[in-house]
Amino acid sequence: MSKRIVVTGGGGFLGSHLTARLLDEGHHVICIDNFFTSSERTIEPFLGRPGFELIRHDIVEPVFVDEVDQIYNLACPAAPGHYQYNPVRTVKTSVMGVINMLGMARKTGARIFQASTSEVYGDPEISPQRESYRGNVNPIGRRACYDEGKRAAETLFFDYHREHGIEIRVARIFNTFGPHMHPFDGRVVSNFIRQALAGDDITIFGEGDQTRSFCYVSDLIDGFVRLMNADDFTGPVNLGNPQERTILDLAEHVIELTGSSSRLVRKPLPPDDPVRRCPDITLATERLGWKPTVGLREGLEATIAYFAGLDLSEWTPPTPYWEAPPVA
Ligand code: NAD
Ligand code: UDP
Repeated sequence: MSKRIVVTGGGGFLGSHLTARLLDEGHHVICIDNFFTSSERTIEPFLGRPGFELIRHDIVEPVFVDEVDQIYNLACPAAPGHYQYNPVRTVKTSVMGVINMLGMARKTGARIFQASTSEVYGDPEISPQRESYRGNVNPIGRRACYDEGKRAAETLFFDYHREHGIEIRVARIFNTFGPHMHPFDGRVVSNFIRQALAGDDITIFGEGDQTRSFCYVSDLIDGFVRLMNADDFTGPVNLGNPQERTILDLAEHVIELTGSSSRLVRKPLPPDDPVRRCPDITLATERLGWKPTVGLREGLEATIAYFAGLDLSEWTPPTPYWEAPPVA
């Protein structure tokens, strides 16, 4: 049956894929976005499509939409360079913004999904990370506005659930990549592909032996929809690809698949950069029947093809990365 579904952050990387999937399934999608870290270009294909509505709005300010069945709360800057650009705003988005969206869920009776993150584990002392692990976050570091904001958001979700009986779903998302990533978001996959296609130096932060586990976007979105529609399961649940890779390994894949002659250059490691990150997805497999199906090479090929088709002059130039914001 067709549902009325709010997607905050619907103009972003993950939000645009989710919106496409929900529209294809015949749902009515109300996208709420202020386009802080995305471009309206990403949602152009949806404009004029039956069932799509756009509300240009910052979720830090109250907003109300009537008759909502489901809310996916994705609005939040996600790339380190984006969330550290205006850290206080990042915390507000994860606290005041989340309270506003939980308020909408309370008034409408909608089920609400939170895009949480592997960053709640911080720089983990155990690997792979299970949902029962409580994490190792530096509360005063440069990543804290995001990590602690997302942790507070999880707290709010569970308190609204216990106190007001709201139906919640919490996904802890691990690094995801694919078409529609902002080419200048500063994240490792977008940086490496953009650099390789241009023949520029590929920037390895630190020694490149830190690990991440890269999930292709279509797999992740499938996990979102399964979790949202699962019975009696709040999460939190890890969603990510358990194949752990070093950053050097990723760079080598990108060079090979683009046929680039780019050189690898070392840059300083950003503060508090997690050394390892790998999801234990046992819970997602048991409760949602979910596991990723797209391998790194296949996903990179699709992402490289997307980036190769972009006219970069149409996109906003790079946002400052970690060294750029003024020291407080
Ligand atoms: P993105 O930056 O591409 O998308 C975020 C969207 O939210 C953008 O369209 C942005 O304009 C919007 N937004 C930001 N602040 C807002 C505000 N206050 N009000 C309204 N809109 C606002 O990032 P993404 O990769 O698509 O991430 C989506 C969500 O998933 C985020 O909550 C992020 O924390 C979470 N997540 C993503 C990843 C990943 O690997 N992509 C990993 C972990 C968690
Ligand atoms: N990284 C890198 N070169 C870049 C961008 C990122 O080596 O040009 C590293 C970064 O230091 C981190 C990893 O790649 O160890 C993933 O960074 P990203 O910003 O994509 O996301 P994170 O997982 O750190 O939030």
